[in-house]
Formats: sequence, C-alpha cells, structure tokens
Amino acid sequence: MKKLLPPAHQPLELFDACVAEMEEAARAAFVASRDQIDASAVAFRDHSATKTWSLLPRARHGHREDIIAGVLTKGALMDLYDEGVVKSSGQPRKIYDEILVAAQGSCPYCAGIGTPRTLDHYLPKAKFPALSVHPRNLIPACRDCNTDAGAGFSLLEAEQPIHPYLDKDSFFVDRWVRARVIRCTPIVVQFFPSPPEHWEVVDRRRAEKHFLDCKLQDRFGSQVAGELSPLVLQRQSSLAVFSPAQFEAHLRIVANDPKLLLNGWKRTMYLALADTPWFCNADFNGNWLID
Ligand SMILES: [Zn+2]
Repeated sequence: MKKLLPPAHQPLELFDACVAEMEEAARAAFVASRDQIDASAVAFRDHSATKTWSLLPRARHGHREDIIAGVLTKGALMDLYDEGVVKSSGQPRKIYDEILVAAQGSCPYCAGIGTPRTLDHYLPKAKFPALSVHPRNLIPACRDCNTDAGAGFSLLEAEQPIHPYLDKDSFFVDRWVRARVIRCTPIVVQFFPSPPEHWEVVDRRRAEKHFLDCKLQDRFGSQVAGELSPLVLQRQSSLAVFSPAQFEAHLRIVANDPKLLLNGWKRTMYLALADTPWFCNADFNGNWLID
C-alpha cells in the first residue's frame, strides 16, 4: 500500500545489540548460535528476492522448548524481542524507535489510515522465531493492522500480505484500489480492490487478500464523510461558478496532489468522483438526486 525504505540496519545488528546488553551467563548461548541466526537471515533474504516468504521453514504451534537455531529455543528467541528489544532502554530500543519513526506517522499496511504505534512482525515471531529481531521483518504498523497477536501466516504464496519494504514495485506504482460512487443520501463511496489484468494471478490474489485482511473497504469508507460533506458545501457555494467540466478538472487536480498515496482512500475517492458524471453535473441545490 505504502512503500517504505528498508531499515538501513544490518540483518544481525539488532540481534548483536541485544546480546551486548545481556548478562554474561545468558550471552554465551546467543553468541554460540549466531551463525545459525545468520543462516536464517540469508534464507529470508533469498525468499525476499522471490517473494516466497510462505515457503520459509516455520516453528510448530506452541512448544517454546523446541530448538530453533544453534542451541536457542523458540522461547528464547521470542523473549529476545519482547524483553531484549521492547523493554530495553539502550541500543536495541534505539534501533526499534528508528524503525518506527521511519514510517513518518503513516501506517504502510492501511496507506496511512492509522498511525504506527508498534512494530509488527511481517513473519510472526511465533512461527519464525529466528527472525524475531531481523530489522527487515519489523514493520511499523497501526493497532488495527498489527497482526502479531493472531500469529498466523498463510502457507499459500497468494495469501501473503504486501511487504512494505521488500515487495514488488507493482503494488506501489500501479493503481489497484478503485471506488464506485453510489447515488443516495448520503452519497456512498464504495472502495474495492481492482488489480490490473496484466498482473500475475498470485499478485492479484495478494492485493485482494491484503485489502480484505486490513478491512480497507470499511476503513477507507469511514474516511469519506469528513471529506465529502465540505466538498458538497463548496460546490453549492464557492465552486458553484464551475461548469461540470471545470468541477471535474478540479477534482482531478485534488486527486493528483503528489502528497496523496496512489492507492490511498483520498486519491481513489477524488478520482472516482471525477469519473462519475452525475456527481460532476449536480449543483446539489434542490433535487440533485434527479437528473
Ligand atoms: Zn494500519
């Protein structure tokens, strides 16, 4: 939805920062297992290149005692994030905060509907514990989009959410969210995913699934009233001098503001309004619902 630059941190930078803060006794196991953590990071990099994260090996449900990497258990690797990063007051927390603020207050999963409050594991740490502190697995996310609690990740390539750092450019440079404007009182703008025909089937499915999982039909739709009511008032007053064609051109100028995300609700809504003849023709005085 919204592309973010990958964190500049090295794959094991956060791991090493956590280990450096540990008590001497706890540190040895992590130091001894560093090569296996590195191997998991390499596998993650390789699967990122092919966008096949769903094929990465995963841990069993529960079973915190399972050995995952070197001598490290699943529980130890999950705690590494919860205790070593989130509760740290030193370098690990500094890296966490750097990754969080890079989103500039705009959640990449929902295209800025929400504000990121925490980091989300793209690959949940309960399933992929060896990647629990990999910077590129940590995504700033709003509360509504943070899926960590569910801890699921589909086995199907076509059901993978869009990765804000590492995914195909087409999700960010092609238009794949559209809306229809329904003529009723109040006016309804209904958003839906509409991936281009030339995309591979797996990518089209992924976009549709992402839209569904992030509940974007409702969440985009709930933004409409606050923008549309003032626009209709303007059309009745200061913009009443515009012909329908001039009003349509005005809507397109607003839509094409470079600050608006390509597949965000606002640009999508303005383009849908501009593409709707009855909306451009209506003066909204009197019986505007009738031609
Ligand atoms: Zn969000």
